Amino acid sequence: MNTLSKQKIIFVAGLHGNERMPVEALTENGIRFILGNPRAYEKNTRYTKKDLNASFGVDHKDYECVRAKEILNEISGGALVVDFHTTASDAQPFVIVVDEKMLPLAGRTGIERVVIMRHNIKNGHALINHRSGISVEAGTHKNRSSYQTTLGVVRNVLGEKEYPVVLYEAYDEIKEPGDYKTFQMHADGFIPILSNEPEYESQGLFGLKARRL
Ligand SMILES: [Zn+2]
Repeated sequence: MNTLSKQKIIFVAGLHGNERMPVEALTENGIRFILGNPRAYEKNTRYTKKDLNASFGVDHKDYECVRAKEILNEISGGALVVDFHTTASDAQPFVIVVDEKMLPLAGRTGIERVVIMRHNIKNGHALINHRSGISVEAGTHKNRSSYQTTLGVVRNVLGEKEYPVVLYEAYDEIKEPGDYKTFQMHADGFIPILSNEPEYESQGLFGLKARRL
């Protein structure tokens, strides 16, 4: 029934160099993966010149754009990507999909919250805009639970089981600063996600508005 389960899975972590828990989890447990941004990882910074996860399909000579091309070359069209991230403030893990065909894969992670990105925060230049797969927000940057969540997802997606999910769609940006608690209904009638992220706030983006499906 589920043809996705026959496809090869490629794990990616460290597209953002300061998101270290998934990289440590995969490395220390001998799980093969692509280290997204080795230079930024070495410096423990999000990126060197620009956001690597907004550089896929961008033709430029910056380190991140060159690295994005290398990563795409390493991932054949038939493979499925599971791309690990962490956040500054979302302790509760969630899965991001940009293509609803990837919902069965999201369901195999064992993570309950799945967000369909209708509003494209990376302008179509994220890894999962260019390869089939999902992004996993495993928890906060420094919390050890992000490490454990990463390992749990690896174990689960290599199995066949699909777990129940709660589906959200992100449909717009939050443009005003405010008191936004992720995955908790705001008084203005939307559910904030990816709020309280310094990298986004510095660009005037205070999160995304989501709703339950
Ligand atoms: Zn990230």
